[in-house]
Parts: sequence; C-alpha cells; structure tokens
Amino acid sequence: MNEKIWLSSPHMGGNELKYIHEAFDANWVAPLGPNVNGFENDIESFLKEEHIKVAALSAGTAALHLALIECGVAHGDEVICQSMTFSASANPIAYQGAVPVFVDSEPDTWNMCPKQLREAIRDRFSKGKKPKAIVVVHLYGMPAKIDEILAVAKEFDIPVIEDAAEALGSTYKGRACGTFGRFGVLSFNGNKIITTSGGGALVCHSQEDKDKAVFLSTQARDDAPHYQHSQIGYNYRMSNICAGIGRGQMEVLADRVSARRAMHDFYVDLFADIDGVGVFSEPSEDLFSNHWLSAIVIDPLVVGKTREDLRFAFLKDNIESRPLWKPMHLQPVFADSPYYGAKVAETLFDNGLCLPSGSNLTDLERERIEVIIEKFFKN
Ligand SMILES: *Cc1c(COP(=O)(O)O)cnc(C)c1O
Repeated sequence: MNEKIWLSSPHMGGNELKYIHEAFDANWVAPLGPNVNGFENDIESFLKEEHIKVAALSAGTAALHLALIECGVAHGDEVICQSMTFSASANPIAYQGAVPVFVDSEPDTWNMCPKQLREAIRDRFSKGKKPKAIVVVHLYGMPAKIDEILAVAKEFDIPVIEDAAEALGSTYKGRACGTFGRFGVLSFNGNKIITTSGGGALVCHSQEDKDKAVFLSTQARDDAPHYQHSQIGYNYRMSNICAGIGRGQMEVLADRVSARRAMHDFYVDLFADIDGVGVFSEPSEDLFSNHWLSAIVIDPLVVGKTREDLRFAFLKDNIESRPLWKPMHLQPVFADSPYYGAKVAETLFDNGLCLPSGSNLTDLERERIEVIIEKFFKN
C-alpha cells in the first residue's frame, strides 16, 4: 500500500521545540506564561489592524463560546448561523441554550448569502424575535461578502461573530479576516493552516473585551485573596506549551499560505481541460483566500460520475479526500432549528469534494494525485 496522503496535516516550521524548551527551562508548564503572551503578540502583529487584542484559548470552539457569551447570548435567544460549516460554528450556540437559525450560502463564496440573511432576520423580527448575534464563516479560507453582511447586521443592530477558524491569512479588500466583526475566531487545531496541536484564539477590538475573555477562560475568579466567583467560568485558556508551538508556527505562516495557494493553482491547472469540474476560486480581486483546503464541484451530468466515485478512486490509492461540510440544517441534531435559503448549500454538499491541500505535500505526492485524477476523468 502506498503511504497515506492526508487532506491536511501538521507542518512544523523548526523553532517550535525551541519555544517548548524555553517553557520547560523556566518551568512555565501551565496555561499562562511568556509563550502565551508572545503568541498573542505575534497574532496581533500578523492581523495588522490597530487596537486588535487577541486572547489565546484552548480551542476555536471555546473562542466562539466566549464570543457568544460576551454578545449576551443566553437561554432561549436566537443566533443566526451559516448553515454550510463545520459543526463547531453552531455547537456553542446550543451550549448557551440558544437556538441556531441557519442561513444558506451564496454560490460564489460558498458563505452566508447576504440576501437570505436579511430575509431571515426580517422573518425572525416578524415572529417577535430579534437575533442576538450573527455567526458568519470564511469557509475553507474563502472570505465571506463581509461588506454586505456587515451592512445587514448594522441595519438591524446585531453583532457579527466572524468564524475565521479556517481563514488565518485570508484577506478581504486587503484587511485580515477575523478583524471585521465584533469578535473574530481563530483555530489552531491539528489540520488547520497552522497548528498548536489544539488551540484557538478570540480576536477582540478592545482590551476590555479581551480581559473579559481571559477572565471567563480562567474560571471567572473575582479579585480576592481566596477563590471567589460571582459568574460561571470556564477552563479555556491556552497552555504555555501549546503556545510555544504556535510561536514557531507564526514564523512560517506566510510560507504556509503561499504553499496552500500553490496547491490551489496546481488543481486549477490540472482541471483546466476537464469539463464538468469547477475549482473553488476567488470570485473577485477583493477576496484573497489562504486556500486552506482546495475544493472542487463535480457536475455528475457532465462527468457521468459522482464526487463519491472520485473519493473512492483516491481511497484506493490511500489518498484522503472529503465531501464538503454537510449543512447544519440537514444535521439530525439541528433538525428542529429554523432554516432560510434555497438549495445552494445542499447542492454544494451533493457534488463537492475537498482535495489534499497540505503545505507539506511533495512533488511525488502531487504526481500520485495527478495520476488518479487523469485516469478518473479519461474514461
Ligand atoms: C476548526 C473549526 C472550528 C473549531 O475550532 P477548534 O479549534 O477545532 O475548536 C470552528 N469553525 C470552523 C469553521 C472550523 O473549521
């Protein structure tokens, strides 16, 4: 059997162990310390926006949860959420006892459709419910139509939480994804563009918002010599060891973005002469994707085969590929949640496939991928 080619695997830069050693030497083996502060500073510099304050946390999911809490989301509230996404975008809404209201995607960015968003909000208002927040996602690194989404959010005075878990290094009109909303969410899980093994961050626009996140993420201890609590807290802070990995990874983030974008270009070339296949690409110059995952949509009527056929062809050669995220409004666990949209996300899910996209793929591995694709589409 050939060696496995992963969809997206960790890719160390080289200095990660140096930062971990420093942590051990100084005995900062704890969820605080110089690497945590250093990692936060590194992300703040990378995002390049003034007044940005970043809180390093144990996961992107934790960051989303704290963003919802800081937006005042409580039991019985409604929160608008992009349907086509990973479940971690929606789960924290349920943690708060709130109800997700799912909204369809638009065909060019695969992200929340501003028109459907407006429809959804108007309908919720007509039912006497004002949504407490909007969770918009930058899927596979592709920026959402931020200006349009923010305009709708402003019209109805609803805060936007940007799930940029997949979009570190992506920009919209030159500005970093994750810095547009009331809060931004980043993830450093093992399969993301950079990793801390597991981890996340909350992007805030004031020291006050960051302090609140850190307070909640460290069990919400009041200012007292004993342990006193007047709020429910969480154990969501990032470990100083994981943050050491993050500092090493931040040194190579720009390279990782280039390599992922090169993978996307590789697929664009490969599929240029194949009918019935579209490679997921930026619809305009305003959008710059980190292309965390390269993805295609297959038209089975033209190709005569389905995305599952291609997935199995890859699997036979020990190459991992994956259907696009199954929309949340089709998930059994969210069967009771309201949904607004047409069938954009559903159609994408039926025909879309994520392809191996790692920044560490070799020429030989690209060759194996190419052979499978050429064979598959030839007959
Ligand atoms: C990975 C991911 C998350 C969750 O991040 P974790 O760090 O794994 O908790 C949230 N949203 C999206 C869209 C993701 O891809």
